[in-house]
Amino acid sequence: MDRRRFLGTATGAAVAGTAALAAPAIAQNKRELRLVTTWPKNFPGLGVAPERLAKRVAEATDGALTIKVYAAGELVGAFEAFDAVASGAADMYHGAEYYWQGKSQAFSFFTAVPFGLTAYEHNGWIYHGGGQELWDELSAKFGVKAIPCANTGVQLGGWFRREINTLEDLKGLKMRMPGLGGEVFRRLGVNIQALPGADIFPALQNGTIDATEWVGPWNDLAFGFYKVAKFYYIPGIHEPGASLALGTNLNVWNDLTPGQRAIITAACQAEDAYTYAEFTARSGPALKTLTEEHGVQVKRFSDEILQALGKTSGDVLREAAVSDEITQRVFDSFLAFRKSVRPWTAAGEEAYLAARNLDFPFE
Ligand code: CA
Repeated sequence: MDRRRFLGTATGAAVAGTAALAAPAIAQNKRELRLVTTWPKNFPGLGVAPERLAKRVAEATDGALTIKVYAAGELVGAFEAFDAVASGAADMYHGAEYYWQGKSQAFSFFTAVPFGLTAYEHNGWIYHGGGQELWDELSAKFGVKAIPCANTGVQLGGWFRREINTLEDLKGLKMRMPGLGGEVFRRLGVNIQALPGADIFPALQNGTIDATEWVGPWNDLAFGFYKVAKFYYIPGIHEPGASLALGTNLNVWNDLTPGQRAIITAACQAEDAYTYAEFTARSGPALKTLTEEHGVQVKRFSDEILQALGKTSGDVLREAAVSDEITQRVFDSFLAFRKSVRPWTAAGEEAYLAARNLDFPFE
């Protein structure tokens, strides 16, 4: 419509006047949050999750709440994401809570701990076993509110340049592994380094490290670890179901409307299920590509190594528990849930999978 003609009518002028008054009010109700991540830009699964979250939130709020996503290094470094949000330099982070274990060991339990919970079990603890309440208490100490917002499912044991047949073979190995899993391997003689994702491949290539874990076939294929290490070990006892988190500055969180908080929470729950489903769908084909096209050999850690890792994991978790008061309560809650869920997982998923793995004609 021609603007002059539109304004020339009395009704048109009245409508235009209403629009002119309404526009600033709408602008005031719009809000953009800055989200920093611990992931490379658009990295499969991990880096895409916060981008998709931002899209969902913008759509669900009709554009009233938008989230601008910064990959690791764009605004702050991967491991600086938590401090940036706690200080208010950024509004949100998407990352793995165990990266903040230097602040309290309790954080590790909200991503994954060695010989801990599977992805489904973990959410059982968070939503129905008292986990979220403890997490809220822990995060609030730092001015942050965190919730689950993606899950990789079980991870694999990692990439090694040479075979690991005995406990002796672990001694002196330089390996990238974060969290308490790293501490477990350190006690078995491994020289542990915690590198953010983007730094791993160059370190593996130039010999700064001899071995690394990252996630699983889909993500590990994307990083190209197979180019420099051919032995891919299973299982990943250090991260049986890595839960990733959305952390929001607590003042920012409290300042959002109840509707916005509900939308972010629901979008993260959707992201959690969606990401886990994508890891499940893409990991099988990726594993096939690794073994059939890139000559990767999948090896299982020996029972001797797994039992040593298991015992050491128990020691490490118990010792971490006494490091501060809240870690003890988180550990107690986590361990109680692990005990209560095990009979069900054994009778449910484990029993079914054991049956499916029996030798019988089917396909
Ligand atoms: Ca990992």
